[in-house]
Amino acid sequence: MGWNTLDDVALAGKVVLTRVDINVPMEGGVVTDTTRIDKIGPTVGDIIARGGKVVLLAHFDRPKGKVVPEMSLGHLKAALEASLGRKVVFGSDCIGAPAREAIAAAAQGDVVLLENTRFQPGEEKNDPALAAELAALGDVFVNDAFSAAHRAHASTEGIARLLPSAAGRLMEAELRALEAALGSPQRPVVAVVGGAKVSTKLELLGNLVGKVDHLVIGGGMANTFLVAQGIEVGKSLAERDMAPTALEILAKAKAAGCTIHLPVDVVVAREFKASAANETVAADACPADAMILDAGPATVRAVTAVFEASKTLIWNGPLGAFEIAPFNAATNAAARAAAALTRAGKLISVAGGGDTVAALNQAGAAGDFTFISTAGGAFLEWMEGKELPGVAALMA
Ligand code: AMP
Repeated sequence: MGWNTLDDVALAGKVVLTRVDINVPMEGGVVTDTTRIDKIGPTVGDIIARGGKVVLLAHFDRPKGKVVPEMSLGHLKAALEASLGRKVVFGSDCIGAPAREAIAAAAQGDVVLLENTRFQPGEEKNDPALAAELAALGDVFVNDAFSAAHRAHASTEGIARLLPSAAGRLMEAELRALEAALGSPQRPVVAVVGGAKVSTKLELLGNLVGKVDHLVIGGGMANTFLVAQGIEVGKSLAERDMAPTALEILAKAKAAGCTIHLPVDVVVAREFKASAANETVAADACPADAMILDAGPATVRAVTAVFEASKTLIWNGPLGAFEIAPFNAATNAAARAAAALTRAGKLISVAGGGDTVAALNQAGAAGDFTFISTAGGAFLEWMEGKELPGVAALMA
């Protein structure tokens, strides 16, 4: 795969600077969802079991290079202690004497938590001087923050260039799943791309048509493809000025041998609201005063058949306006079909990106997918075929 893991670096007796994503939601000083904290447990436990001293580097929120007390990582100390079951020693700065003193004060088996890296003006600029100050604190760098890997920052990219570096267990799992879905996948591969607009997913579509065997286009963006083919979509969300771009994507797909699947039937309504009166019509029969809010049952059957004929699925974006029932029906049904095939060992299924995780959770399907990425922007940039600087810096 090319990148080091915890198995490739010596950790005994070393101070291990470990970049994590613990940017958890908080309300009134209380952590409301500890998922991100809980997920770093295996990496922290593994480093300690191998004799390393764990020093956590992390950002919180967007302080933009200034000290903002409400964004102090000190607020997370108790939540970390509860989740990890270890004493946490907090350092009131991520560099200099406060950081060195916290590291010295921690016993083997304790976890050091250094202050928000984004309090430093050099962090988001990937300032080499800050990277050097961070690197001077330890012996080895471990990056477990895939969700921050699409940004070249001092605590993700700069530091990795200065120390022996490796992916943590969470990053490793993410990279393996993504590699299995698009790097060297079992074919045929089907991608589902849905969501509101073509314009936000142009690069992603352009990359996918050159890599996958089938591309299912759903959601509002499918309307733009229908318009491009001369089909009227009434009052539906559609980016009419993107029609030429949609045609280019269709041509590129054809040249690459990628079959595009657009809705064959659609659910239309006159209002964008839950339980709005609706009807199912052929994809080319949207009434002039109505809008398409979901794919229809024939489309779901066609999509399910493509899933059944595929070995790998990669999914981003809902097939309809999934937040308002009943326009979540196609997304839910397709997600459940993918989940059942995955459970049966017939499909490798990887999904990610903002709304997609919420949509699959709502369908009750997320638990059965092979891998769900919560990385958002990093997942999308990876689907676009871009090199992620935080990952590139870990290459052995
Ligand atoms: P994205 O963030 O691009 O993945 O888009 C997700 C959003 O697209 C969700 O808020 C959906 O409600 C919306 N969406 C999907 N299909 C449609 C549609 N046919 N009409 C309007 N909005 C849609």
